[in-house]
Amino acid sequence: MKGVKLLEERKYIPFTEEMRKDYTILVPNMLPRHFKLFLQVFKNYGYKLELLETSGHRIIESGLKYVHNDTCYPAILVIGQFIDALNSGKYDVHKTALILFQTGGGCRASNYIFLLRKALEKAGYGFVPVISFNLGGLENHPGFRLTVPILHRLFYAIIYGDMLLSLVNQCKPYEVNKGETERLADELTVELADKMQKEGVSFKKVKENCKMILSRFAEIERVKEKKVKVGVVGEIYVKYSPLGNNNLEQFLIDEGAEVVVPGLLDFFMYCIVSNLTDIWLYGLNKLRYPVLKFVFNYLVKQQKEIIALMKEDGNFAPPTPIEHTMELIKDFMGLGTKMGEGWLLPAEMLELNDEGVHNIVCTQPFGCLPNHICGKGMMKPLKEKNPDMNIVAIDYDSGASKVNQENRIKLMLANARANMAEKERENGIKAEPENEKTEILA
Ligand code: SF4
Repeated sequence: MKGVKLLEERKYIPFTEEMRKDYTILVPNMLPRHFKLFLQVFKNYGYKLELLETSGHRIIESGLKYVHNDTCYPAILVIGQFIDALNSGKYDVHKTALILFQTGGGCRASNYIFLLRKALEKAGYGFVPVISFNLGGLENHPGFRLTVPILHRLFYAIIYGDMLLSLVNQCKPYEVNKGETERLADELTVELADKMQKEGVSFKKVKENCKMILSRFAEIERVKEKKVKVGVVGEIYVKYSPLGNNNLEQFLIDEGAEVVVPGLLDFFMYCIVSNLTDIWLYGLNKLRYPVLKFVFNYLVKQQKEIIALMKEDGNFAPPTPIEHTMELIKDFMGLGTKMGEGWLLPAEMLELNDEGVHNIVCTQPFGCLPNHICGKGMMKPLKEKNPDMNIVAIDYDSGASKVNQENRIKLMLANARANMAEKERENGIKAEPENEKTEILA
């Protein structure tokens, strides 16, 4: 009987064509800039989506009320944010649906949809449909279909989102007029979403738009000042989400650092490589091989073209091509290590180090075994071969003290500054005091 009850609790309510007309679909916020572009793509196809930008301790409390505290921290936050929104009175709960992202990999994230449905049932919202956003056909929702034109536009939204993320991080710590970088990024987000609708999906247009983005950011007046660069890696949700990492990016900027965060395209390509690895190592689904290989090569080619374009522009540091990142990790870990962020996590640490970003915050959510192995667990071997690396692992969970997290990061920053001063002494360059404005760029 208990088993039957469990199945009933996990039964999904399909999102129908009828619902598409007047339901609001709530989206948990992970990557603010990218998600705004994604939402616009869906809006252009007749969906009404809303990004949840709520924060505060009550989200954690809502999560803990309906999800066991042993569950991964990202799941507690996402489920808490959904239930908090439904409780808020802002939405007609009978005209509201939720969307959850599933990679379809072996990690627990692929099962959180059942946890969410169970939590909704307990909270009295068992009738609210939950849409699974996945590329593996895990569930069927007739009113929500990821068609080829939508996927094509979402891919270009990832390219734009990654570029905005990178340029904001390269400009914001140095801007002369406070707030100018964020304002420009907000303006461009709307403009790009609009262009995607009007211009259709042509990579030629995407490249033209990328050139336009680069030139607009280059116009931002910046001070020439040497700041400590800090890379952020980790489990995908706590790495990117300000709710998950207690606004880590802003904290680092306030502490006088420049933040470097690898883009979402890397994760997307990592997921494709994981599928290819299943074929290489275990001979699974061989029929999918040509399609996966074609998509991977296509993405690699487009990533290279964007990198070439940034190099030609010369104003901002471009990302590292995924093939080079894969090359960097091969002496440390096999591509078969693919639970959670798997090999990508230490590979991104090596990628950052290779780009000259030696200081790294590795964000680790509570309850995340794969990332503790591939993150914290890999710090020692990476540092042994790369003594310049200054990595700190920060745990994020519902009971973690923000002050404690910040103090550990401050300690890492103190080491980073000492290392920078030491290097400058060795090179015979006089270290400039932090925040001293020397030269105005642009
Ligand atoms: S990657 Fe970690 S946090 Fe994410 S679902 Fe897997 S175990 Fe949980």
